[in-house]
Amino acid sequence: SLSIGIVGLPNVGKSTLFNALTKTANALAANYPFATIEPNVGIVGVPDPRLEKLAEIFGSAKILPAKVEFVDIAGLVRGASEGQGRGNQFLANIRETDAICQVIRVFTDPDVTHVDGDVAPERDIETINTELILADLQTLEKAIPRLQKESRTNKDRKATLDAAEAAVKLLDGGTTLYAGAKGAGIDPKDLRELHLLTAKPFLYVFNLDADELVEEELRAQLSALVAPADAVFLDAKIESELVELPDDEALELLQSVGQEESGLAQLARIGFETLGLQTYLTAGPKETRAWTIRKGATAPEAAGVIHTDFQRGFIKAEIVSFDELVEVGSIAAARQVGKARIEGKEYVMRDGDVVEFRFNV
Ligand code: GDP
Repeated sequence: SLSIGIVGLPNVGKSTLFNALTKTANALAANYPFATIEPNVGIVGVPDPRLEKLAEIFGSAKILPAKVEFVDIAGLVRGASEGQGRGNQFLANIRETDAICQVIRVFTDPDVTHVDGDVAPERDIETINTELILADLQTLEKAIPRLQKESRTNKDRKATLDAAEAAVKLLDGGTTLYAGAKGAGIDPKDLRELHLLTAKPFLYVFNLDADELVEEELRAQLSALVAPADAVFLDAKIESELVELPDDEALELLQSVGQEESGLAQLARIGFETLGLQTYLTAGPKETRAWTIRKGATAPEAAGVIHTDFQRGFIKAEIVSFDELVEVGSIAAARQVGKARIEGKEYVMRDGDVVEFRFNV
C-alpha cells in the first residue's frame, strides 16, 4: 500500500508522534485482520464524515475508513548523506516510500536539547533538504556518465540525460525537485527510473507548544517556509495524550487548545491528498467502507482494489453519488428517480461514488 516516510532531526518529537500513530494503528488493526503492523509502521484512518451517514442509511454494523501508512525513518542527521549516523540505511528506507513527511520542532523546552543548539525551523528544514539533495546529487553523478554513453547509441535516452543534467543544476542551487522541477522545465517522468528522493511529494508537520496552535501569524509564517507543500500543525505531546482518551474526553482536550480535529487526523487527511488519492464507497448491512484509488482510476481498476478477480471479471458498476444518495435516502429510491447510473469499463471514478460492482467470477 502507499506509504509516507516520517523524517526529522533528533529530539523534534518524531517518536512521540509515531507512538501516537502506532496506538491508532493497533486500534484500527482490530478492524483490518489482514494488516500486519510492523514496529516502524503506523496506520491512520482518514477521517470522513460521509461514512457515518452511509452507515446510518444502510444500517452497517461497522465502518472501515481509508487508511494511510506512515513509516518511521530513523537516523536522518546532518551528514547522513556522507554516512553519518545510520547514514545510507535511511536513504534506502526513504526510497521505498511514496512521500516524505518532515517533522519540525517549534516547541521550546529547556529540558529537551536541540542538536544544533537552538530552535530554528527554517534552518532545520534546510538541513534535512540538504541531506536529501546531496543524496540525489550522488545518484545523479553516478547515473549521468552511464546515460551519456547510452544516449550515444540510443536516441530515446536523451530525454532522461537532459532531465538528469537539468536536475543537477537545480539541486546544486539548493532547490528540491518537488519544489522546482516544473519551473526548471523538467518532466518528472524522465527521471522516474532514478528514484530520486527530492522528487517525492513533501509535507510538513510543525510540532508546536499547545498555546502556539492558535497563533495564526506564526502558522502563516511557517506555512510560507514550506509552500507549495502542505503543512500540519500539532502538539505531539497532546497527540500522545489524545490517543489514550475516550472520544468525548479527547474532543474536550482538543477544544481546550482551540482545535477541532486531532493532528493525526489532519495528517492522514492531508497525507492522502499529497499522495494524489481519492476514495469511493461501498455500503451494506455488514460494513460501510472507503476504498483507496488513485485520482483518475477507472471502474475496473477501482473494483480491483477490492479483489483482483473483480477487475478481471468486471461487467459494470451501479453508481450513485454520495450527495444524491443522501438526498433521496436509499438506493431503491435512487433507482426510482434515475439517480443510480450503470457505468462500464471506461468510467473514471469520482470521489464519493457509492458503488456496487457486477462481475463474473
Ligand atoms: P525524536 O528524537 O524526534 O524522536 O523526539 P522524541 O519524540 O523522542 O522527543 C524528544 C523529547 O521531546 C522527549 O522528551 C519528548 O517528551 C519531548 N517532546 C516531544 N514533543 C514535544 C512537544 O510537543 N512539546 C514538548 N514540550 N516536548 C515534546
